[in-house]
Formats: sequence, structure tokens, C-alpha cells
Amino acid sequence: MRYLVLSDIHANCDALDAVLEEAEGHYDQVVCLGDIVGYGPEPNRAVEWVREHAQMVVRGNHDKVAVGLDDVSWFNPIAEAAARWTMQELSEDNRRYLTNLPRGPVELSGFTLVHGSPLDEDGYLVGVIDAEYVVPYIEQSVTFFGHTHLQGGFTWSRHQVRHLERPAPWEPSHVVLIEETSGYLINPGSVGQPRDGDPRAGFAVYDTEGRVVTLYRRAYDIGTAQQKFRSAGLPEALAARLAVGR
Ligand code: ZN
Repeated sequence: MRYLVLSDIHANCDALDAVLEEAEGHYDQVVCLGDIVGYGPEPNRAVEWVREHAQMVVRGNHDKVAVGLDDVSWFNPIAEAAARWTMQELSEDNRRYLTNLPRGPVELSGFTLVHGSPLDEDGYLVGVIDAEYVVPYIEQSVTFFGHTHLQGGFTWSRHQVRHLERPAPWEPSHVVLIEETSGYLINPGSVGQPRDGDPRAGFAVYDTEGRVVTLYRRAYDIGTAQQKFRSAGLPEALAARLAVGR
């Protein structure tokens, strides 16, 4: 089975459309690591696409805030403004869907999905030290996580943890071979708001039979996306950051 792994779409459907165009023909099923909404201008369209196409979804912190499962006062003022806008915008159906999303980790056949960390759905795995802390608790060899918007993640064998590489700015993809003696915490990158300095949309495909995870980056029309942020009245900083991937 080949899984398209999407995370942190953040209601940016221009990025989502480009990802789907690039991924077409390379996957059989879709899984999603949460933060479908928040920040971006098309929350209903993003949720509707995920509802229709994803086989398994775990909730993200922005999904929780958008439906009142978590308190918006934890957010910085820009994220808060976008969250309040999203709350107004979501349809009743989409609100109900987000409210009922499961908390990660969720186990699938042979791998695990979480939004933040296997130990805390809202935890951040940024550095090797964060991964070292959770590795002893991980049972499956492959775990996908998001939340940091930093593509790549970690691999370890005998508890020696190191960073996984992501595609260089001039590369469309980077292949990670899944070895039986190693463990993997893999971040597919953010579709709608990358923060690793590469403004291209990030995603991954996991081929479970071939034991290969391919990390992809796909350029999209950022100018058109920014126009939508502005017409929606979302904070300018959210539109501006798309161009730099920070
Ligand atoms: Zn996010």
C-alpha cells in the first residue's frame, strides 16, 4: 500500500491542490496528521477534501481551537485572530467533523500517526533531544508526526538518534529507506505553511511494501494564495510568511 501523508494543511488550498497534482498516481490511500484548518483562507474546502479522501486523520491543536475543544488564549495574537476568523467561517457539518477527530497516536497497519508527539498530541519534536526523550516509548518502527512544520524528522538504531534529511531547495524529493533494524519519526512537512525556510508545499508518500518513504516539495502559486489571505481579512503576516517558508 502507498499512503499519501499530509500534515498542517492549514486551510491553504492552493498548496493542497498543487500537492495533489504532484502526488497523483503515486498513492492508494490518504492519511492526515491534523491542523487541517487555522491560519488559511479556505477552511471549509480543506476540511471537505480531507473528509472525502482521507482514510485516517488525527486532530491538530488548530482543529481543536477552531471548534472550541481548546482555549484560543494559548495562541499568539496572529494565530488567535486567524482562529477566531476560522470559527466564524466553518460550516456546522465541518465543525462537527473536526470535533469528532481522534486524538493521536492512532495505530495503522505497521505505522503510527500523531500530530505532535507520541507522548503528547500537542508536544513539539524539534531537536534530537526531543526525539531521544520519546524513542524509548515507541513500539512501531515508523511514526509520522507534524505540528512543527519542519520536514524530515528522526531515525535511530540502538537509541542513537539523528536527523533525517529533507529535499534540498533545488530537489523535488528525498528518499528515506526504511531499515528493519531502525526506528523512524518522520515529518512529511507542512502542506500549507512550511517553516523550514523552503516555501514549497511539503508532503510524503509511504510505500509499505517497498519500505520507502519519499519526502516531496512542490512549488505552488504563492501569490494567488496570498491574495486569498488578504481578501479574507486574515493578518498580513500570515500571507507574507508563505513567501519565505518561515
Ligand atoms: Zn500546524
